Amino acid sequence: MYRQQDAEDKEYVGFASLPNQLHRKSVKKGFDFTLMVAGESGLGKSTLVNSLFLTDLHKDRKLLNAEERIHQTVDIIKHTVDIEEKGVKLRLTIVDTPGFGDAVNNADCWRRVCEYVDDQFFQYFCDESGPNRKKIEDNRVHCCLYFLPPFGHGLRPVDVAFMKALQEKVSIVPLIAKADVLTPGETKALKGKLRDEMDAHDIKVYQFLHGDSDDDDDDSKQEELKVSMPFAVIGSNTVVEVRGQRLRGRMYPWGFVEVENPSHCDFVKLRTMLIQTHMHDLKDLTCDLHYESFRARFISAMNSKMAAEQRAESPLPPPSLSSDEARKKKDEQMRRMQHMLHTLQQQMHQHSL
Ligand code: GDP
Repeated sequence: MYRQQDAEDKEYVGFASLPNQLHRKSVKKGFDFTLMVAGESGLGKSTLVNSLFLTDLHKDRKLLNAEERIHQTVDIIKHTVDIEEKGVKLRLTIVDTPGFGDAVNNADCWRRVCEYVDDQFFQYFCDESGPNRKKIEDNRVHCCLYFLPPFGHGLRPVDVAFMKALQEKVSIVPLIAKADVLTPGETKALKGKLRDEMDAHDIKVYQFLHGDSDDDDDDSKQEELKVSMPFAVIGSNTVVEVRGQRLRGRMYPWGFVEVENPSHCDFVKLRTMLIQTHMHDLKDLTCDLHYESFRARFISAMNSKMAAEQRAESPLPPPSLSSDEARKKKDEQMRRMQHMLHTLQQQMHQHSL
């Protein structure tokens, strides 16, 4: 009797092992991920990053006093660390934004962050069009954790301005920082209020669409993540022995808050989403959506500028040139091209293209 299994065995050509080849290649090459953290100083950004990746990324940090913070402009600082777990290497880059939201007038403080994200796209665009495409250093930002204060009563103008300016350029994951200062009821109410206000301002945050979970009920997982947004998180650099177990958390006179206890905060949800299930999706979105839309806008701006320059030039056909003259003309075209790219980059900063 004809059996489907026999047929399958006979027709086995081996492409079922393709995923293994990919797996081996990726492990050998290693992974990279660039995470931006934004929010005003003191909200626990560095502590959370250290708790997430169990690495001290900010040991050389200079802490400013209150007066210095008022005058500080938004700075961008990159920390890169190579971490390894069970033979899998991850090159993690954290882009910190000290000074964000610290000044008296924070109306424009999102601008520097926007410029940084655009500059990374621009650099990638130039490298991709250059002669050495194989060794491109990719510094594009894959995700931005945006820290909202737990003490407020909803979104502040600076939060709205930041998220609206960045939402088309990077996947934003909003967080309620230092959630241990809130009761469960307060956390629930603040989450609801923040979600409503985000909808009202048409703010688009990351949607957890294409996660990689082992479960079949992907939709319910996605829904669970969506209703937990903004994740209420707690960070801590201390590990304490409680009930015979070594736990990361914060000790108070009234008890111990566990960072990794899902009934205390959403830290585990955030870590699982960011590292185990959605890191690839975040990277894909950066390449396929955010970078592609930057590229399309940039090329269309470049074409319009070139067309305008050509119209301004003489309409007569070019005379035949000697090789020396041709080289000079090529150099001149190259110089103009570079000048044009530079001008476009400046315009991009001014108008947030
Ligand atoms: P950053 O300036 O945003 O990077 O903030 P830091 O990570 O330096 O934290 C500022 C202060 O807040 C430190 O004293 C931390 O110990 C404390 N801190 C950090 N995370 C939490 C948290 O989740 N809850 C509470 N209560 N304090 C926190």
